[in-house]
Amino acid sequence: MIPFETKQMLIGGVWRAAAVDETLPLSNPSDGSDLARIARGRAADIEAAVAAAQAAREGAWGALTAAERGRLLMAMSALVREQADELARLEALDVGKPLKQGRADALALARYLEFYGGAADKVHGETLPFVAGTTALTLREPHGVTGHIVPWNYPMQVIGRSVGAALAMGNACVLKPAEEACLTALAFARIAQQAGLPPGALNVVPGLGDEAGAALAAHPGVQHLSFTGSAAVGALIQAAAAQNAVPVTLELGGKSPQVVFADADLDQALPFLVNAGLQNAGQTCSAASRILVQRSVYGAVMERMADRYRALRVGPALDDPDVGPLISRRQQQRVRSFLQHARESGLRVAAEAPLPRGLPEAGCWIAPTLLADVPPAHRLAQEEIFGPVQVLIPFDDEAEALAIANGTAYGLVAGVWTRDIGRAMRLAHRLRCGQVFVNDYGAGGGVELPFGGVKRSGHGREKGFESLYGFSVLKTVAIRHG
Ligand code: NAD
Repeated sequence: MIPFETKQMLIGGVWRAAAVDETLPLSNPSDGSDLARIARGRAADIEAAVAAAQAAREGAWGALTAAERGRLLMAMSALVREQADELARLEALDVGKPLKQGRADALALARYLEFYGGAADKVHGETLPFVAGTTALTLREPHGVTGHIVPWNYPMQVIGRSVGAALAMGNACVLKPAEEACLTALAFARIAQQAGLPPGALNVVPGLGDEAGAALAAHPGVQHLSFTGSAAVGALIQAAAAQNAVPVTLELGGKSPQVVFADADLDQALPFLVNAGLQNAGQTCSAASRILVQRSVYGAVMERMADRYRALRVGPALDDPDVGPLISRRQQQRVRSFLQHARESGLRVAAEAPLPRGLPEAGCWIAPTLLADVPPAHRLAQEEIFGPVQVLIPFDDEAEALAIANGTAYGLVAGVWTRDIGRAMRLAHRLRCGQVFVNDYGAGGGVELPFGGVKRSGHGREKGFESLYGFSVLKTVAIRHG
């Protein structure tokens, strides 16, 4: 069913078992069945992967020109596009992601590789005006070996935006996928080989976070770390990076608002209000989990969102529903405890999507739930739930909307729905976050658009051209020639 051996890792162009030959289980969140076993990488495997990456930098990979690297990324992109249906099926089995969302992720991965492939030979240094008789210039160089610790919710997109950009700049990568979901990371490693990426340019070591992940974060041979995941682990990664004085990009999630003013085109807004919250069953760092609505249209927006909730199809990922299962029992329990707290504190349920009869009992189901009139300071309006739950919050005017929107510890993405361009621009400037969409909302979208957070959502930018600057370092050269 899975078209390759899952118990191995790719190090230096060779597929091999973990040094201590142990494996970890992967299960299918749609029905709880055993899916595969994956290698349990540990410090020894990370050691080998970092050594292979260093060798690649000093060998065939490091010798390529930027244009040649770009062509390889383009070849990888074409293969990902060709295999998009298969990658979507793997993601459905592994993550519980509905097929059309998995396919969109695969096409986003292809687009990242295309974007960064095309950009590889267009990033360059500058010449600088300096003292007479001296020519000064900057060289933009790769860091060397980069570490990529990715989560289970969007493996393909996160690999595209971080590994794609890192390879484009000539770094050699060590990728540690999440233990809950790593089939598409392994498939991607096979695609890279198929495309002819030199051995060691990309190494993939699955394993547990506190084993393989911690070893990668702490390794002194790694010159840059890219991490997407929880704030708690992000803090550990930053501490490990500090020990080696290397830069780190942290993308730690959010509690992103969409702000709907009374003058908005509600027909245009409605699909975005719901879909951007429930995409991937709400397990999206940039999920629009807070919907702020001006009081005069609050009732109408609530009713129309509630209608959409009632019409949602929840089901196994391979049936391509609107909303699939959550990734794991642990995540399901976590979301359930939020919903229990909502009930205990008397929050109003505006709508709950029906769970159809006959869903596999061992699947990790949560009925998508829309909560209304949630006080902005309530736990459900403050904490990242990471499930199919949205909160509706009324507001009276622009100042109040801004205060509520900025009033959490996070700052990743925000959406503003209004026909008033002045208001849209004022909010775009004053919202404390990394991306603002006006009359639009892209949860995770936008290959071309720099992405990342402020406050507890993290720091550093990936996606767009900005990622290429992050995955490279400037060297200044001054030549006195008289
Ligand atoms: P996590 O942070 O534990 O895992 C993310 C990645 O970090 C995985 O590859 C994991 O193996 C690795 N990791 C874990 N511990 C590590 C360590 N000590 N050192 C190095 N690497 C380590 O996230 P999770 O447990 O999968 O999810 C928990 C919560 O995190 C979620 O409920 C959600 O709120 C948040 N989350 C956010 C995102 C996001 O896109 N920002 C993604 C996943 C999870």
